[in-house]
Amino acid sequence: MVYKVGDEELEAIRKVVNSYKFDRYIDGDKSVTSLVERDFAKKIGSKYCLAVSSGTAALICGLAGMEVGPGDEVILPSYTYIATALAVLAVGAIPVIVEIDESLTISPQDVRNKITPKTKAIIPVHMRGLPCNMSEIMSIAQEHKILVIEDVAQACGGSYKGIKLGAFGDAGMFSFNHYKIISCGEGGALVTNNLKLYQRAIIQHHGGWIYEVDAPNLQIESFAGWNFRLSEISSAMLSVQLSRLDNILGQLRAEKNLLLERMRYVSNTLQASHIHDIKGDCASNVFFLMESSEQAKKFVKRANELNIDVWCAHTKGHVYSDWEPILEQRGAHHTLRDVFQINKDPNLYHPNMCPNSLDILSRTIGISTRVDRSPNTLNEMINMLIKITKEVE
Ligand SMILES: *Cc1c(COP(=O)(O)O)cnc(C)c1O
Repeated sequence: MVYKVGDEELEAIRKVVNSYKFDRYIDGDKSVTSLVERDFAKKIGSKYCLAVSSGTAALICGLAGMEVGPGDEVILPSYTYIATALAVLAVGAIPVIVEIDESLTISPQDVRNKITPKTKAIIPVHMRGLPCNMSEIMSIAQEHKILVIEDVAQACGGSYKGIKLGAFGDAGMFSFNHYKIISCGEGGALVTNNLKLYQRAIIQHHGGWIYEVDAPNLQIESFAGWNFRLSEISSAMLSVQLSRLDNILGQLRAEKNLLLERMRYVSNTLQASHIHDIKGDCASNVFFLMESSEQAKKFVKRANELNIDVWCAHTKGHVYSDWEPILEQRGAHHTLRDVFQINKDPNLYHPNMCPNSLDILSRTIGISTRVDRSPNTLNEMINMLIKITKEVE
């Protein structure tokens, strides 16, 4: 959800429109897009950043940059937006779906269970602003010599043990669509410290071409790519949004802290979900784990009756059991490009393949934080939540 947008974005867009320069390559490394890339890389603490047209594009460029392709398996969690799995299919690899744990992020234990000799990469997803257990994931990856691409689409600006999310893996991807913490309408970014990966990603995103400005010491040959460029108009909006990020996160974290503080000891029925790094959480949502799904349903129903926006964590489209084209193994627009036709395995997926995830999600309720709620409104909301907690006990 876009939290804040104002005249500054309009002014930045107006400047680009008046310049008649909409393509990032007209002005070389002086383009707005290049500027945003440098700012973003600095913010995350990565050497390189490539701005692209969507988060899905960033994932595809990252996977292409890592030379992931046919014959490879890529591990990803049961709880993420379908695009994480679609990007894996787009490069011709097979998505391997693993359980989440009570932190709502990928279960390191189940990652270990699902590693095979074909596993080429893991995509930990920092879902709903929550940092994954990156210590565990990076040590598994090192142990098995597997690449890591972090999906930070929903957790821009979050961190784990003081390091920004996106800076742990071989690459990190971000999305700036309407629903993310900062937005430029549609857009995405890839960050990495690996020059070769970065250059392959540039080629993938720009039709197979690479400009000297992006690659003063090009180390690779070109190949046929696609077009995932970000326009200067979008970059203009993104640059202003980026300047708002710290402030947005500060406000979300203040709301979350107050909510957690007051709700923490209300009842055993309502346990705050485990967070791997509470300081690094983006705090865009607050989650509670309940004893049963009936209790969770009752809580959500009662809260919604009182006009409080509480929701069950099992939201449509974000759980593997909803990913129809994947569960039914229609992996591409053409059978000869469909990895499921090439690698036939009818037992690859099943709607109940991750029972722990379905159980945890059905018992987890979420409350979204906001930047525009007055202290009074927040207090009243918390009072009502406490009342509801006692009702459903
Ligand atoms: C939004 C999102 C994406 C895809 O981003 P788009 O910009 O919509 O392509 C990927 N992964 C997750 C977890 C997301 O939330």
